[in-house]
Amino acid sequence: MRYVSTRGGMAPKAFCEVLLEGLAPDGGLVVPEHYPAVDALTLARWRRLAYPELAFAVIRRFVDDIPEEDLRALVAKTYTKEIFGTAEITPLRTLEPGLHLLGLSNGPTLAFKDVAMQLLGNLFEYALARSGEELNILGATSGDTGSAAEHAMRGKQGVRVFMLSPHGKMSAFQAAQMYSLQDPNIFNIAVRGVFDDCQDIVKAVSGDAAFKARYRIGTVNSINWARVVAQTVYYFKGYFAATRSDDEQVSFAVPSGNFGNIFAGHIARMMGLPVRALVLATNENDVLDEFFRTGRYRVRAAAEVVPTSSPSMDISKASNFERFVYDLVGQAAGVVAELWRKVDRDGGFDLAGTPYLEQLPKFGFVSGCSTHADRLATIRATYQKYGVVIDTHTADGLKVALDHRTPDVPTICLETAQPAKFAETIRAALGRDPDRPPGYAGIEALPQRVEVMDADVAAVKAFIARHAGG
Ligand SMILES: *Cc1c(COP(=O)(O)O)cnc(C)c1O
Repeated sequence: MRYVSTRGGMAPKAFCEVLLEGLAPDGGLVVPEHYPAVDALTLARWRRLAYPELAFAVIRRFVDDIPEEDLRALVAKTYTKEIFGTAEITPLRTLEPGLHLLGLSNGPTLAFKDVAMQLLGNLFEYALARSGEELNILGATSGDTGSAAEHAMRGKQGVRVFMLSPHGKMSAFQAAQMYSLQDPNIFNIAVRGVFDDCQDIVKAVSGDAAFKARYRIGTVNSINWARVVAQTVYYFKGYFAATRSDDEQVSFAVPSGNFGNIFAGHIARMMGLPVRALVLATNENDVLDEFFRTGRYRVRAAAEVVPTSSPSMDISKASNFERFVYDLVGQAAGVVAELWRKVDRDGGFDLAGTPYLEQLPKFGFVSGCSTHADRLATIRATYQKYGVVIDTHTADGLKVALDHRTPDVPTICLETAQPAKFAETIRAALGRDPDRPPGYAGIEALPQRVEVMDADVAAVKAFIARHAGG
């Protein structure tokens, strides 16, 4: 299995060569040369596998430059009951016949990003040991991604994490999840400013090629290919849990932001999983809903992005979306390159009236958007009807799923976070606090390890240089 760029400007590479990279050298995203096909016999065999074995079977199809026994061991030490709370890793909960929640948020930071990030931590450590290199991960976070990355990389050999977050802007719970880590390879930098200031500093530091090379600066953002592959696994797991035979179809509903999660569902479907619909839910930041309804992709200006009560979906553009467009245009890299020249020049493109839009229905996407009022109503209704408290992102997914239900096709809604992370909105919906999972009580009172700094590129560089051992 080799990887190429969506824009055509990269010689084919193996999995480990793209593992530590961000964008392809031509500015595109890395994609596999083809999707591995899964036949009926394989599906029947996979149905019987426990999560770690299934994960190995799926991921192995995308990775041929790690010896099988090593990959099996890396996967086995990632997907454990100790890390994910249950041996099922992503347990299915049935709300009513034909309507399920797939629990993806039982990892250390209580959001679905742990499922992929925990594997990434082990893959990075393995690949760096093999090449004798070190990596300094630099990122900016407003919550979920940063804490998932830190919890995945803590204590890993050869990896350091420098994570910028806006000082005083995260909830006390979110801040504690990151700042209470005492591992010497984790560096929290609280920037006096907002999230965009943090992101600008990351861009400036990464844009200094000499600094970047000298200190081996890398990222773990949502375009990382290994994260996408790891997420493909739970679409298979959810399908097997919700069906009795491989003749049945299901639909998946996915609360979406950067299009990483639902793109993994698209891969599973392309591999041959019997998926009827991929139901894409956005919040008020509806870039993706607009595209799937009209064919128009329009990147939003930063000032247009609305802060919402499902903050992990507050996006101006969807980083992984280019990978889907590559498939939509028949993997014609030249067309993708031209479309993204338009994105850079005009802020978007419109496929209405092109033959590409006629291809869209065969990919099974349907979409919808959910508002703050919808979230409150859905959280309330789900609690009243089923006695289950869901988080705000999951509520967006469930709302849009219910709008698009097809009789006789079960719908699996991906539960992407625990309600405990969004207590304020849960209180507004239910008039009471969400329960905290055991082990998270009082984390706000733990000692914190964080460096508070001005929004100053030079100061951040100096801090990295002091601690990165370059
Ligand atoms: C990141 C995130 C999302 C959005 O996932 P994408 O892969 O960016 O589409 C949804 N819900 C939660 C809780 C998240 O953390």
